[in-house]
Amino acid sequence: MPQSIAFHGAARTVTGSKHLLTLDGHTVLVDCGLFQGPRELRELNWMDFAFDPAGLDAVVLTHAHTDHIGMLPRLVKLGYRGPVYATPGTIGLCRISLPDSGRIQEEDARYHNRHGTSRHNPAEPLYTEGDAYEAIKLLRPVHYHQFQELPGGATFRFAPAGHILGSAFAEVYFANGERILMGGDLGRWDRPIIKDPTMMEYAEYLVVESTYGDRVHPDTDPKEEIARVLKRAWEERGVVIVPSFAIGRTQELLWYVHELYEEGRLERVPIYVDSPMANSVTLLTVQQTEEHDQDLKLDMSEGRSPFAQDIVRFVRDRQMSKELNDAGGPMVIIAGSGMVSGGRVLHHLRHRLDDPATTVLFTGYQAEGTMGREILEGAPTVRILGHDVEVRASVEQLDSLSAHADSNEILRWLRGFKEPPRKTFLVHGEPEAQEALAVRIQSELGWEVAIPRQGDSYDL
Ligand SMILES: [Zn+2]
Repeated sequence: MPQSIAFHGAARTVTGSKHLLTLDGHTVLVDCGLFQGPRELRELNWMDFAFDPAGLDAVVLTHAHTDHIGMLPRLVKLGYRGPVYATPGTIGLCRISLPDSGRIQEEDARYHNRHGTSRHNPAEPLYTEGDAYEAIKLLRPVHYHQFQELPGGATFRFAPAGHILGSAFAEVYFANGERILMGGDLGRWDRPIIKDPTMMEYAEYLVVESTYGDRVHPDTDPKEEIARVLKRAWEERGVVIVPSFAIGRTQELLWYVHELYEEGRLERVPIYVDSPMANSVTLLTVQQTEEHDQDLKLDMSEGRSPFAQDIVRFVRDRQMSKELNDAGGPMVIIAGSGMVSGGRVLHHLRHRLDDPATTVLFTGYQAEGTMGREILEGAPTVRILGHDVEVRASVEQLDSLSAHADSNEILRWLRGFKEPPRKTFLVHGEPEAQEALAVRIQSELGWEVAIPRQGDSYDL
């Protein structure tokens, strides 16, 4: 029986990754992501899956971003009971983020029911914290480079993708010996903490992301940007507030600041990580030694951990978080959420945004409609926790910390192939980015490229 692949998410859009492989009559779902962003996309999360969850034979996860794992508890709620294969790093992150995601779904539903703001009556969570724990029970660790059997005589193995902790390409071998390389998200070279993306040489079929398929990241060194912002803040004895993304960016920022301290280029001032999730992820990062790149291995072996308690103070409880309000600068407060749409960063900003000595340092994209976007675009006042707060702080953005390869980096990775894949599928990108990348792949490499639509299926 033939093999096929069907695309049920991240098809001509960035989120909702769900790729269904059919292998000799058995079905394997690669990633089970949440659609995020505008309402018309989020509503897709409420539709029936295009396949029967109870009928799936296996699930494989490439990495733990919400747009790749965020629907797993719903899949389980609707009947899936088979194994979910993932790297130990991805499993660690799933344990941290999925219950939290279920809790937020429940809180949102309660909020809408209290305020009558739901279009559904009563509002229900997409899944609960309990569903998330049921999903976690199905996780099965597969280390990088280790072969794991799949139903239907297929096997697969993971290789490091350099994107976030635990991220992997899944190289799936059919019973006939041919293979499809499921690219997940492609990371970048020469980034701190985790290993570079693995160069792959052969695949009959390839699925690759295209988030930045039409863009090239700015050629700025994040360490130098951080040095500039912090130096200026220290001169004013100010406080730097970093709205943080718990996975990846928080740890990278700590790594760069630690380097600057070690090189004697910055006065050592306290750094507070005031986010339970970022703290858990940082601890997990320390524990996942198989993921560490050479620099971090060396730092750790010489007792110079960028996450050591003498530099970084992990704020656990709310009381300690509130006490920071009375502390003077200079210091750094890293707190969630990254787009200022909730979390403890709100009360820090409420207390310090009207102080010209404060610096707000954004570390990533600020979506439309978020408070982060308002501040970034120069709003004179913002409403935080029921108060109008004047924005007198300096506002800075670090745009060099992206975890996704840009179009040159994607091409660099593709050039590592010794033979062109028979077909290369572009997923996980907006249509313009996908078109631009398809043109580059066709003209520079001469490969055959397809840009599947939602629901499209291809024989392999
Ligand atoms: Zn990702």
